[in-house]
Amino acid sequence: AHLDRIAAVDEKVHAFLHVDTEGALKAARAVDDQRARGEELGPLAGVPLALKDVFTTKGVPTTCGSKILEGWVPPYDATLTRRLKEAGVVILGKTNMDEFAMGSSTENSAYGPTGNPWDLSRIPGGSGGGSSAALAAFEAPLAIGTDTGGSIRQPGAVTGTVGVKPTYGAVSRYGLVAFSSSLDQGGPCARTVLDAALLHQAIAGHDPLDSTSIDAPVPPVVEAAKRRDIRGMRIGVVKEFGGEGYQAGVMQRFHESVELLRELGAEVVEVSCPSFTLALPAYYLIAPSEASSNLARFDAMRYGLRVGDDGSRSAEEVTALTREAGFGPEVKRRIMLGTYALSSGYYDAYYGSAQKVRTLISRDFDAAFAGVDVLVSPTTPTTAFPIGERADDPMAMYLADLCTIPSNLAGNAAMSVPCGLAPEDNLPVGLQIIAPAMADDRLYRVGGAVE
Ligand code: GLN
Repeated sequence: AHLDRIAAVDEKVHAFLHVDTEGALKAARAVDDQRARGEELGPLAGVPLALKDVFTTKGVPTTCGSKILEGWVPPYDATLTRRLKEAGVVILGKTNMDEFAMGSSTENSAYGPTGNPWDLSRIPGGSGGGSSAALAAFEAPLAIGTDTGGSIRQPGAVTGTVGVKPTYGAVSRYGLVAFSSSLDQGGPCARTVLDAALLHQAIAGHDPLDSTSIDAPVPPVVEAAKRRDIRGMRIGVVKEFGGEGYQAGVMQRFHESVELLRELGAEVVEVSCPSFTLALPAYYLIAPSEASSNLARFDAMRYGLRVGDDGSRSAEEVTALTREAGFGPEVKRRIMLGTYALSSGYYDAYYGSAQKVRTLISRDFDAAFAGVDVLVSPTTPTTAFPIGERADDPMAMYLADLCTIPSNLAGNAAMSVPCGLAPEDNLPVGLQIIAPAMADDRLYRVGGAVE
């Protein structure tokens, strides 16, 4: 049924870069066979899923939305892919994304934009716009995204779906094509909080193949999602997120959500985290710096595209021609920014300062969580904007992640859960919930109560 739905609507939505019809049917039949044999099946056995094209899939193309990986077929599965398969999840295909996960609108994909199913002339968020659009268009009930600066939560918010960035280190990065390794985190996307929890449970857990993987039990996310009781919880409203630059309808729905939290028995207090206003500039030094190093591997020799290799050119020339042709403008911008920020003489002033800001942000979170169980804010300052509106203005585009980035820099857990439609444009608004590292279950407890 989901493959039929994709065939019917994806020409318009363009959530998928690759639909693996054969692989999906084979996986579904394998679950049927297991059931026929009377084997015990897990909660996600046979459930279809849309996978962001940044995770490697053995034998199935993986492009990261880039021309430089066009035609590359990975010889191995990411740990996340392997876990999904072991859980009996049916992977329908690979979803569209901003090239190498750099963007907030999916317009930076080398394969064309994705439409927001609520209004196809608007962006579905990014970088994982394909995954969230697939959910909103009912092309899949579950999806996977990655969140380096907001790329699961912001698409979730603007498509009216649930998106979770687990604690950094909770979900293995092995086989996740690296953008900014100290921030990248895979996580679940779904239409309900409980669905997200079931997917979280399936993909999280220690992996010796990822050096930053956390070796601790997965927090009880499924139980928390089912609890639907937040009496006695202390919830902090982040003072710095709101006011100028925030759409009126977004703030209205946010304030109503805070009222709802109070009615449900939570104690709500205002919390100040002054360093959060520095998060965006710090992120746009740290993330491009790490990207400039990580993307050095795309040298025309190891993967995918190779341009100008006719026997007359040196390896360096072929690398340069390939990178010129294979990388899009945003990726080039970030490689240049990152290389500059890391260069000798500038390193301390830019990269070093950004790392200090990162420490300040973690301290603000620690101070806040000494008094509250979770923090809340709008997920994004505005609802989905029209395709093209911010495409030529990187600074305007970067603002979409104002509220999501602090959690990436601190490595804690955060969720976006739908909280209604903005009255002025009838487009979805997201409520962001933030919990301390390894307290991901609190997200599900609060999210499950308010959805
Ligand atoms: N929009 C942010 C960026 O462009 C975040 C991306 C992400 O989380 N992958 O870097």
